[in-house]
Amino acid sequence: MTNSQPIRLDHFMAAANAAYYGQKNPFADFITAPEISQMFGELIAAWVIAVIHAMPGDSAITLVEAGPGQGTLMADMLRVIRQAAPDIYQNCSVIFVETSERLRQIQKQAIAYHTDISVRWYASIDSIPSQPMILVANEFLDALPIRQFVKVSSGEWAEHYVYQGQLFQKQVADLPKAPIFQRPVKDGDIVEVCEAGQDIIKNVAQRIYKDGGAALFIDYGYASPVWGDTLQAIAGGKKVSPFIDPGEADLTAHVDFLALKEIVIATGARAYGIQTQGEFLKQLGLLVRAKMLAARATEIEQKQIAEAVYRLIDPSEMGDLFKVMAIMHPDLPIPPAFELNKEIK
Ligand code: SAH
Repeated sequence: MTNSQPIRLDHFMAAANAAYYGQKNPFADFITAPEISQMFGELIAAWVIAVIHAMPGDSAITLVEAGPGQGTLMADMLRVIRQAAPDIYQNCSVIFVETSERLRQIQKQAIAYHTDISVRWYASIDSIPSQPMILVANEFLDALPIRQFVKVSSGEWAEHYVYQGQLFQKQVADLPKAPIFQRPVKDGDIVEVCEAGQDIIKNVAQRIYKDGGAALFIDYGYASPVWGDTLQAIAGGKKVSPFIDPGEADLTAHVDFLALKEIVIATGARAYGIQTQGEFLKQLGLLVRAKMLAARATEIEQKQIAEAVYRLIDPSEMGDLFKVMAIMHPDLPIPPAFELNKEIK
């Protein structure tokens, strides 16, 4: 991918990530929570089961996963749902939202064991048919393209474009509507806006409000408004320049959860969180689950379990940086692991 003209940062990031996820193996470059331990998917399955049991009626439910990677989270969830809630298992179907054809094949393999479950793929959330759904998305929002704005002098803003492997600034006339522009910003500050993520959250919240269900978004990012450049590129486990070799590295940015939460509330759906991953997993019983697994494990496996717990919840690892937000239909009760973290109205 080369650009002969300056290209706006979000357009550059969208094209670079489409090439990256289409051709590369992302899991050679980074490791995500479901790949660290099966406990992650098992606990999320427990959350999903509790939410479905609180829903009215026992009609069919669609489990949707956005950006499923290797399909590990869904595979771990389906295993638990089949064992612990056969009533739900018999009535559920799966939708994967995935753009990469290569990853779709891997996802198909990951849940091939569940021959009795219907699985469909869509390229975007807005193309899914209307129906009650439980949506989960881990490390999906961070891969969506961002725009970056720089405060240049009083009242004036510039926007970041990419040209010949470098960033440069162009004057902007119209800023997008985003709450972050209402906050005090100094000259030189960078403000990031993820319009793609905001559109997706709005679409999901509107669907949940209209059709019923819930969604759980887990990602790294902020629970309060923050500015600064969070764009990063990882290739081969190392940070590289985001602009030199587009398609060779995974481009991500921190998620502004507060902006997303405000969007959810405006639709009439409920937003819960923003909770840290550490608290979320502990409240779902990670430590108890780890103990149970360790009780029947070898010494080496016990070490691996302890290491996984540390990576998932320690504040110096994923515990604090990763945040969790739930979107719920207003008739549903406060979901598990958010009881201490009531919605802000
Ligand atoms: N959830 C997985 C993978 C995270 S990697 C895990 O936790 O391991 C990001 C995932 O989002 C990949 O599956 C990638 O192909 C997908 N993705 C990235 N941008 C996307 C987009 N615009 N639409 C749909 N899927 C996208």
